[in-house]
Amino acid sequence: MPAPICPNCARGELRTERIEKTFRYKGQVLAIPDFVVAACPECDETYVVPGENDEALDRLRAFQKEADAALDRQREAEGLLTPAQIKAIRKQFGRTQSRFSLLLGMGAKTFARYEAGMVAQSRTMDHLLRILHGHPELIVEFEPERKGTGGKRKSKSRPEAELAHLAQALKPLTQEVQAEGKV
Ligand SMILES: [Zn+2]
Repeated sequence: MPAPICPNCARGELRTERIEKTFRYKGQVLAIPDFVVAACPECDETYVVPGENDEALDRLRAFQKEADAALDRQREAEGLLTPAQIKAIRKQFGRTQSRFSLLLGMGAKTFARYEAGMVAQSRTMDHLLRILHGHPELIVEFEPERKGTGGKRKSKSRPEAELAHLAQALKPLTQEVQAEGKV
């Protein structure tokens, strides 16, 4: 049958080639030396050929699984929650990654990065997540509608804001209820 024509330039006839293809995942690199692609000699565009790379894709999946496990071991060695545990805690509160990030006073993409293993959470954030996991009712301390009703909350730099939130959240647990006195 005739060679297919390149969809990119509509001129070149695609040929099957084996190339070295490099995959990056969670800080690790896998090179597959014989990845099958259809290459265009005119514009140098390459296309993945369906069904030709089953073995390579199996290796890629195994590589990703091992990279995930290595990352989990690293987080556990550091005494930090794993990405899957962080995701489970977020799901406990039924929030999207961006909404949960914003709720806890961080940039919108922070939880996506934690859950993808791209960034490790600070130890402060790790503690905060563990506390919220064990005391989910404390999430109300972060709800925007409470801001400005319970006293002074100035916006501070982020780590300080985390600690201030945490201290505020822990108050009911650690102090006697003081009905009187100034705040
Ligand atoms: Zn082409």
